[in-house]
Amino acid sequence: MKKLVVITGASSGIGEAIAKRFSEAGYPLLLIARRIEKLTALNLPNCLCEQVDVTNKEAFVQAIAKAEAEFGPVDCLINNAGVMLLGQIETQDSNEWQKMFDVNVVALLNGMQAVLEPMKNRNCGTIINISSIAGRKTFPNHAAYCGTKFAVSAITENVREEVADFGVRVTNISPGAVETELLNHTTSSEIKAGYEDWKQTMGGALLADDIARSALFIQEQPQQVCIRELLIAATRQQ
Ligand code: NDP
Repeated sequence: MKKLVVITGASSGIGEAIAKRFSEAGYPLLLIARRIEKLTALNLPNCLCEQVDVTNKEAFVQAIAKAEAEFGPVDCLINNAGVMLLGQIETQDSNEWQKMFDVNVVALLNGMQAVLEPMKNRNCGTIINISSIAGRKTFPNHAAYCGTKFAVSAITENVREEVADFGVRVTNISPGAVETELLNHTTSSEIKAGYEDWKQTMGGALLADDIARSALFIQEQPQQVCIRELLIAATRQQ
């Protein structure tokens, strides 16, 4: 019997692909994002869709409680929601830095806090945090974004060590470039064009489903097997 999986940022890209893969594998799901119409349009069985801004901790926690009342305790949380606002440090609006840290880092911490205690009490559960190759190495115009993703990588490994004794798994997936809506929110058309050119040099980015298959692989290992980290990039990405 498959248990409840919570996926944040399931309205597009990697989160949407993960939702489809996990649904196909028979998991009941809680899907979270702000664009509720995109979540409901997926039309997946055993699936609760909740319109939640993950920076709103109370709404995030309430959505989890609602799903648990329907499907039982959360067995797996996939902290995938994220924003990438590329910019030059000299000119970027500091509100963009704040937004990235709020969504990519603080909301991810909130998500873990919402599910970890019961997982520890049950001696099982899995948290999968979507970091990035930008959580391992730096790129031009990525200073604040890399800052958030280095933070996600550090937080994930730190929490993994803290809860390992309780039988809870914590995993970091670090994707390379993936073809999604992520770049759309960057305001500089010059930076966007440069990023698109860079993707062409590697013969195109990964597909969102490439990451979704890995997330399912991690979750479907026996509970005593924890894949601590996966770094997945297009073969030609440098
Ligand atoms: P998308 O832009 O396609 O998806 C981002 C998702 O996050 C959307 O579903 C969006 O939903 C959700 N989201 C953003 N802000 C919030 C918020 N405040 N509250 C709730 N949900 C939110 O990009 P990706 O699929 O590429 O990104 C998914 C993750 O993968 C991110 O963490 C990203 O940093 C990471 N990643 C992506 C890479 C890539 O090249 N694409 C590479 C490495 C990592 P909505 O707008 O409806 O709220």
